[in-house]
Amino acid sequence: MAKYKLEYIWLDGYEPVPNLRGKTRVEEFDAFPALEQLPMWNFDGSSTRQAEGHDSDCFLQPVAVFPDPTWKDAALVMCEVLLPDGTPHPSNSRARIPDDPDAWFGFEQEYFLYRDGVPLGFPANGFPPPQGEYYTGVGFKNVGDVAREIVQTHLDLCLEAGIEHQGINAEVAKGQWEFQIFGKGSRTAADQVWMARYLLLRLCEKYGVDVNFHPKPLGIEVDWNGSGMHTNFSTAYMREVGGKQYFESLMAAFDDRKEDHISVYGPDNHLRLTGLHETAAIDQFTFGVANRGASIRIPHSFVKNGYRGYLEDRRPNALGDPYKIAGRILETIASVPNGSSVAELEAAVA
Ligand code: ADP
Ligand code: MN
Ligand code: MN
Ligand code: MN
Repeated sequence: MAKYKLEYIWLDGYEPVPNLRGKTRVEEFDAFPALEQLPMWNFDGSSTRQAEGHDSDCFLQPVAVFPDPTWKDAALVMCEVLLPDGTPHPSNSRARIPDDPDAWFGFEQEYFLYRDGVPLGFPANGFPPPQGEYYTGVGFKNVGDVAREIVQTHLDLCLEAGIEHQGINAEVAKGQWEFQIFGKGSRTAADQVWMARYLLLRLCEKYGVDVNFHPKPLGIEVDWNGSGMHTNFSTAYMREVGGKQYFESLMAAFDDRKEDHISVYGPDNHLRLTGLHETAAIDQFTFGVANRGASIRIPHSFVKNGYRGYLEDRRPNALGDPYKIAGRILETIASVPNGSSVAELEAAVA
């Protein structure tokens, strides 16, 4: 038997964007615990905007477990928040989304590293040289002296935790970076994004650095990029059957529901989706091959393969909740005939 440190992690009740919270408990296990072995727990919801003081207990239901690479015999436990009667708390977005293990998601999480109230590498007042050489840049003048250590350590931590981190790039603004997370199923993919955010926030503590996920942290008056979370998606039907006609029906459904999508694609997105800086205007739905100014970008490979493969929704922003984003995409896909999954199609025919 060994004593394991279990970090129970959940999303609080702050709006419009929840914060990550976590607390630790010690339990004895023979080996690294499986999800089924992890007990429910509770916390004081009156301190997280999830309950009133006179009736403050909220419950934590473990839903995913990752080894914690920074601590011996430790686990990171992603949790859903439940009410005392066992139903999902209103803040629990994970419980309310459709899922499909054959739906694949790739999230491109952009963010700024901040120190002393400004992006890492910015002078205390004013601005560094304008955007141009920072994107995928190298050298102290472009990335400073500590950011690369942070982003590379974060990549290692994610891989060691079993998170499908797929890559890193320095972004267009100074102090701005991106990592990509891939997952199969809306919940599995989004759990990993939240856990990757958690690991980055926690890693940055010891550098005196904060992670700023705001979609337009420098405001709209200046010529500096905002932060998105482009969401790449494909269902089994899109990958294996697809076709131009199905693609056009899918885009018509996305157009019909554009406001529903924007409503869960992260707050303050009107500051970012201006039509400038490789974005589409917030009130329009557009799509185009390799078009970084469209709402949805169609990869060249998609058209070459007979309208099969994945699409990139460029509208979600860096503050968005990946549960809600993936869930919304699946709802719209489900509204299009034949769009759910090949398995469902085959079941319907049989
Ligand atoms: P770009 O910066 O050119 O938009 P990235 O390389 O940053 O592209 O991100 C591409 C994303 O697409 C990755 O997160 C990857 O996991 C994802 N992706 C690749 N293939 C698929 C697929 N079939 N279904 C869903 N997502 C995919
Ligand atoms: Mn990218
Ligand atoms: Mn990017
Ligand atoms: Mn992209």
